[in-house]
Amino acid sequence: MQNYNAPDSQGFFGRHGGLYVPETLIPALEGLKQAYTQAKQDPEFWAAFEHDLKHYVGRPSPVCHAGRLSEHLGGAQIWLKREDLNHTGAHKVNNTIGQALLAKRMGKKRMIAETGAGQHGVASATVAARFGMTCDVYMGADDIQRQMPNVFRMKLLGANVVGVESGSRTLKDAMNEAMREWVARVDDTFYIIGTAAGPAPYPEMVRDFQCVIGNEAKKQMQEAVGRQPDVAVACVGGGSNAIGLFHPYITEENVRLVGVEAGGRGMDTPEHAAPITSGAPIGVLHGFRSYLMQDEDGQILGTHSVSAGLDYPGIGPEHSYLHDIGRVEYTVASDEAALNAFDLLCRFEGIIPALESSHALAWAVENAPKMAKDQVILVNLSGRGDKDINTVAALKGIEL
Ligand SMILES: *Cc1c(COP(=O)(O)O)cnc(C)c1O
Repeated sequence: MQNYNAPDSQGFFGRHGGLYVPETLIPALEGLKQAYTQAKQDPEFWAAFEHDLKHYVGRPSPVCHAGRLSEHLGGAQIWLKREDLNHTGAHKVNNTIGQALLAKRMGKKRMIAETGAGQHGVASATVAARFGMTCDVYMGADDIQRQMPNVFRMKLLGANVVGVESGSRTLKDAMNEAMREWVARVDDTFYIIGTAAGPAPYPEMVRDFQCVIGNEAKKQMQEAVGRQPDVAVACVGGGSNAIGLFHPYITEENVRLVGVEAGGRGMDTPEHAAPITSGAPIGVLHGFRSYLMQDEDGQILGTHSVSAGLDYPGIGPEHSYLHDIGRVEYTVASDEAALNAFDLLCRFEGIIPALESSHALAWAVENAPKMAKDQVILVNLSGRGDKDINTVAALKGIEL
C-alpha cells in the first residue's frame, strides 16, 4: 500500500463513487470541484480551517487511555480519540466548518443540508450562524417527530427546518429533496453534505476535512505510547468519522483498520444497516455508486439501527473500495453489543458515548480480551451520548 491515490480524476474509488446525477446538476458539481481544487492548493484556506478548528471547535481533541475499562477487560489497552469533546459534540463539525469556508469562498449566501437524526443539521445550522448564511435543513417528517430536541436546536441557531413528506419520510427522502432544491437554486445555494458520500467531489472533500482526526491521532499516539496502535477502529454510517481516522493510516501497513457497521437486531434478520457485512450488491443512490442494501428489483431496503446516525442503506464509496482491496476489515456490532459497550464506558470511564460510537467500542470490548496487554486499540469516539439518553432510557424501560 505504498502509493494509495484515490479517487481518480472522475471521482471513482475503484468501481465505486463517480457522479450519477441529473444533467441539471452537472454544472453545479463541476463548479464545486473546481472551487475545491483551487482551495485545496491555497495555504490561506487551510489556515482559516485550522484557525476555526482550534478556536471554535476546540481542537486538537485529545487521545485518552481508557485504563479502568482496559483493566476490566483484561487484555489490550484501549485508547479513545475524543471527538465527543468537539463543539456540538461530534466529529461532524470538522466537515461543516470546511464546507462553510468553501461556500464563503464561492460567494454563496445560502446553505442547504439534509439530516436524519439531526446531528448534521445542527452542525450545519451552527456554521451557518457563524458564517452569516441562511440555512434550510431538509428532514423527513417522521424524523422531525422523533428528534424534537435537535429540531429545536436548529431553530435556536436560526435555521429553517423543512419537513419532507415523501417516501419513508426519513433521511434518504430528505437527501433526495435537498438535491432537488439544489437544482432549483444552484446560483446562490451551497449544498453541505454530512458524510463521505454523495456525488464527486463530496466523498473526497469530506474525507479531506475529516482527516484531521487521523492526522492528530498519529501524532498523539506517538507522543503518548511511542508508537502507533495495533488496531484503529471506527463506526461506519456513511463513513466520515471512519475515513477521517483511517485515511492517514492507510499506508501504515502495521496498523489494522476495522470499520464497524450497524448489526441492528442481528445479521440473520433484515433489521440491520450493514451493506458490506451483509454482502449487499452494488447500486446507485444519492449520486454515487457503492454497496447498497436493495432487493432484487433494485428497491432500497428498509434499515434498522438503535443509533440513528448509522441507519443508512448505503456506505461511502471509499469504504467499498477499501473493502475490495482488503485494506480495511468491515464487521458489525449489534444493538445489544453497542448498548453493553455504552454502559461499560459510562461506568468505567465516566464518559457517556454516542450510540454510534458505541458500535466501535463494542468491537474493542469483544476483542481486547483476546489480545496481549501491551497491544493497543484506538477507538474513534465519534460523539457524545447526551442526544441518546431518551433512546437508552426507553430501551431500559425507564421513563424520564
Ligand atoms: C452522524 C454520526 C455518525 C455516523 O456518520 P459517519 O459519516 O459514518 O461518521 C457517527 N457518530 C456520530 C456521533 C454521528 O453523529
